Amino acid sequence: MRQTVHIVGAGLAGLAAAVSLSGSGWRVVVYDSAPQAGGRCRSYFDTTLGMTIDNGNHLLLSGNHAALSFLRRIGSEHSLQAEPCADFAFVDGATGQRWTLRLNRGRIPSWIFDPRRRVPGSVASDYLWLLPLFVARAGRVGDVIRTSGPVYDRFVRPLLLAALNIDPATASARLASAVVRGTIGGGGHACRPLIARAGLSAALVDPALRFIETHDGEISMGRRLRAFDFGDARVTRLNFSDGITEIAREDAVILAVPPTVAAELVPGLTVPTQFCAIVNVHFRVDPPSGMTAMVGVLNATTEWIFAFPGRLAVTVSDADRLLDLPRETIAEMTWKEVSAVARLDAVMPRWQVVRERRATFAATAEQDMLRPSAPTAYTNLVLAGDWTATGLPATIEGAIRSGQRAAELVSHPSSPTALWQ
Ligand SMILES: Cc1cc2nc3c(=O)[nH]c(=O)nc-3n(C[C@H](O)[C@H](O)[C@H](O)COP(=O)(O)OP(=O)(O)OC[C@H]3O[C@@H](n4cnc5c(N)ncnc54)[C@H](O)[C@@H]3O)c2cc1C
Repeated sequence: MRQTVHIVGAGLAGLAAAVSLSGSGWRVVVYDSAPQAGGRCRSYFDTTLGMTIDNGNHLLLSGNHAALSFLRRIGSEHSLQAEPCADFAFVDGATGQRWTLRLNRGRIPSWIFDPRRRVPGSVASDYLWLLPLFVARAGRVGDVIRTSGPVYDRFVRPLLLAALNIDPATASARLASAVVRGTIGGGGHACRPLIARAGLSAALVDPALRFIETHDGEISMGRRLRAFDFGDARVTRLNFSDGITEIAREDAVILAVPPTVAAELVPGLTVPTQFCAIVNVHFRVDPPSGMTAMVGVLNATTEWIFAFPGRLAVTVSDADRLLDLPRETIAEMTWKEVSAVARLDAVMPRWQVVRERRATFAATAEQDMLRPSAPTAYTNLVLAGDWTATGLPATIEGAIRSGQRAAELVSHPSSPTALWQ
């Protein structure tokens, strides 16, 4: 009989593990407590807006290699709209000033020598002080670079805030370093925005589920794992809310649930304990013609505006300060900014506020140290998830990389970090 890998959690980490192992000789079974796969990266039909929206605007970049290999494997690489160039439009909400950063394709940043492409108010030498961030391995961003001045305020801060979901000055310099090396370090070639125009589920989740099922895998939704049984340093049983699954000696388990859930299931596991919210506000309105797919907004509550067919969607990162505000207040506040940026002279259209309280773990140096690596004390149990020690902040790229790594650990028993020793 084929060995079975039981994957608990059908977010992108679990799906990436399942996709990697599908067709490799393993029987793959994926479980999730929710009725729908995708976890923190999913679409749903919103009855207030009368359209399908995502739980949050998600941005991938052309340098996200793990995500792109996942998309290629599930045959979905064309479902993301790739912007032709690494151009980033910005508006200063306080002054109304508009500009576009235009990164050149190659690794040598010639764009910083061109006043029409670089941050307004900056000179080329202003970018030199960013260099320590490329090699930072410890401490906070604020200890490594100056967190003021036009290049920081108008370029580095918005980039890091979007990627780390925390005030960049207080963020882990190691994680920020991974972000800048993977983005601007790769030149414009690595920074072209990729946007799921038809929704996250259509691009990333549904094709993955189809891929798993066409490779004889099984998807079992609505199954909450309540506990493991352990014996002989291995998982012997999965106790679901609706029954028990025995784990054969040669089978493996990948646990790809959020950190707080994993900590309850695995004795002695250390996990991140602090989280940051993301708030998205959606307005049912046609974007004006010529509006770019995304616009960064500075000196405002709104940080990014994404233009979708029939909808403008706002992202606010590190948004715990908005969690206790009435939803109407958030909608009114951001609509004022959106209508000014999009130059729309209209009353507030139908809207929806989506608050993800625990969108990501807090990307501080202290929390980063709490992230466990994939192997566990149990020989047949591996962890996956954006909160495990991927070296990246909590992103799609990190989640997918963790799932692929878990699959590798399961399928290569002879590697030095293998399970079956
Ligand atoms: C609003 C928002 C915006 C974001 N924007 C971006 C972005 O622009 N770019 C980017 O790269 N990343 C972004 N992210 C981060 C990205 O969504 C996550 O990093 C990624 O989706 C995490 O995937 P995961 O599989 O690690 O975890 P999850 O998606 O949390 O998956 C865990 C799964 O485990 C299931 N589960 C929980 N408990 C149990 C149990 N007991 N038994 C069985 N199943 C269980 C859950 O239902 C869930 O499906 C954003 C996140 C949010 C919330």
